[in-house]
Amino acid sequence: MITDVELLYSDFEQTVRENMPNADLKLIRSAFDYAYACHGPQLRKSGEPYISHPLAAAKIIAEMGLDEESVISALLHDCIEDTGSTHEEIERLFGKDVAEIVEGVTKLTRVTYTSKEEEQMENFRKMLFAMSNDIRVIIIKLADRLHNMRTLEFHKEHKQREKALETMEIYAPIAHRLGMQRFKWELEDLSIRFLDPIGYNDIASELQKRNEQDSAFFENIKTKITNRLAENGIKCTVYGRIKHIYSIYRKMYSQNKSFEEVLDLYAFRVVVDDIADCYNVLGYIHDMFRPIPGHFKDYIGTPKPNMYQSLHTTVLGTEGVPFEVQIRTWEMHHTAEYGIAAHWKYKQGVSSSSDDEKFAWIRRLLESQQESDAQDFFKEMRTDMFSDEVFVFTPRGDVINLPAGATPIDFAYNIHSAIGNKMTGAKVNGRIVPFTHTLENGDIVEAITSNTSKGPSRDWLKIVKSSEARNKIRQWFKRERREENIEHGKAMFEGELRRNLISMSDVTNEDNLPRILKRLAYASLDDLFAAIGYGGASAQKAANKVKDEIRTIEKARKKDDLDLPSSKTTSRKSKPVNGVVVEGLDNCLIKFSRCCTPVPGDDIIGFITRGFGVSVHRKDCKNYIKSASTPEEKDRWITVEWANSEFETYTTSLTITSRERSGLVMDIATILSAANIKMTSFNGKDVGNGLSVVSLTLELHNNTELRTVITKLSSVPGVTSVSRNSG
Ligand code: MN
Repeated sequence: MITDVELLYSDFEQTVRENMPNADLKLIRSAFDYAYACHGPQLRKSGEPYISHPLAAAKIIAEMGLDEESVISALLHDCIEDTGSTHEEIERLFGKDVAEIVEGVTKLTRVTYTSKEEEQMENFRKMLFAMSNDIRVIIIKLADRLHNMRTLEFHKEHKQREKALETMEIYAPIAHRLGMQRFKWELEDLSIRFLDPIGYNDIASELQKRNEQDSAFFENIKTKITNRLAENGIKCTVYGRIKHIYSIYRKMYSQNKSFEEVLDLYAFRVVVDDIADCYNVLGYIHDMFRPIPGHFKDYIGTPKPNMYQSLHTTVLGTEGVPFEVQIRTWEMHHTAEYGIAAHWKYKQGVSSSSDDEKFAWIRRLLESQQESDAQDFFKEMRTDMFSDEVFVFTPRGDVINLPAGATPIDFAYNIHSAIGNKMTGAKVNGRIVPFTHTLENGDIVEAITSNTSKGPSRDWLKIVKSSEARNKIRQWFKRERREENIEHGKAMFEGELRRNLISMSDVTNEDNLPRILKRLAYASLDDLFAAIGYGGASAQKAANKVKDEIRTIEKARKKDDLDLPSSKTTSRKSKPVNGVVVEGLDNCLIKFSRCCTPVPGDDIIGFITRGFGVSVHRKDCKNYIKSASTPEEKDRWITVEWANSEFETYTTSLTITSRERSGLVMDIATILSAANIKMTSFNGKDVGNGLSVVSLTLELHNNTELRTVITKLSSVPGVTSVSRNSG
């Protein structure tokens, strides 16, 4: 492939000119020349020159109208990581800020992420913030990731999966937190395309179909609005709203809804130059279409807490189809799409962004998002980008969150008190360090332990920063004495048992122990021993009670043996989810595929989606047959079976072909209602030659019920065939 780098550059420069009118084009060009020289003949997986990647990332930054330093940093973002370039050199050529941003992006690139439970992800996201002293580092990292995701098809499958999962779990939520909705949507859509290709393609093709069906409607309304506004001298751009695949995907699978059910209202967006025009446009819209009462919202006068501004109104089109219109200025549009990044474009010249002002802006944006799971995050953000916390890695890649100034001792006790108690040394990034060493963000920390360790030293109490470590060290000193007590008490108790001809195993026997402990009123044997050891309980009395209890137990057992069958079997099976049991997997996320809509009784098989549970298909589904024969995917199919449940209903689709006649719809509806079957969608059309095709979506319990319905529907006069859809 031949890529004309100069052509790419002039396209990029055009974007800079349009969005950053005051930018120093010469300086930007010299940054590009420097980066190009650094990367030299290096190629990307796509075969393009490597420089095309930083250039694309810088273009994304320029599109948002960020500052010159950001664009230059984006051009240089891979120089330190991939080439001989250094912090010092970049600082000399492009200044301290650029050098620090590039260094920051490099640090983030070096952090490796392995998929973890939600708490770990949240820590990981926080760590990325903590490592970026400048918010521009995060924004450039997002642009870098966005371009990498756009070109992910050139990577191997496992790499695609890894990157897509990381993007879904780490980068899309970060974009969301920063109010960068446009980034969030694109990152999510690009990720799901690789994580669940079947689910993605289902929705994409369904949307495509919709768009074709609706395009006349959209064009018609758009033209009407544009013409009317033009007649009145208002310059505007009208968009029909684009629906993001992942938001449909999430609603369909998390709420188990059909495609139709999760589609939003039709919506149009009218973007104009100033606020006065927003209200003028509203007047014209209400004149052209009938407004639905109670659906007008003025988010310009009263912005949403997250700074979102627009006028919203819902009106009735000429065909009786309701739709929403959102009216806003370009600045409002930019803030809605780019969140924090819009700051630079519209706040330019107000004052050079002092840190205070920068954080004030972040704070406003972040505090306002009303998500309970994010509350802590905002609280932390407020404290000057986590300056009171430090995030480090375990050798396994878990992120551990400690107070700033924490030492390897804090780390060890955070992992487990047993690790702290046995620690004899520590390594940070592979090197041995003293216990007083202060940990830094992104450090990989390892506690060296030994079973011959004599335990923590009292001096540690003065070194540690976390109250957790301090408490655990104190506990150790308390418990150490307890352990001496236990040892002593145990010896006394065993002596008494021997005298009563009882063996210790009769006491610790799992059938007897709970009853003995109950009789003695202790939570554990150790508690008993500790009490005997320090003199709070008598070993002799305890042994007598034990003897008595064991006798009672044995008597009861002899009686039971006569009355009860000798053994009972309990079979252990995975728990069903949504009425389906997945072989060997408990609590697995289950969804039913939309292509073949299985119902109980059908032969089924499960497909392990990448990161999103198991999707259940019919064994005769075309998607299954096709996918199971490809070497990359065949191992992802897994045995699943129906659990017996009469309560759940399942969705399936039928296609009925019939001679065209009046009353057909009525007959079908009557049969379904007599059989007590819920119909969730109905779609009939004439296909010519005197034939009609009716598509139905039904909710029913199993395939016996389904077969009965098919038989009944087949007997409706005029009907020539009734078939199930299968992919
Ligand atoms: Mn990069």
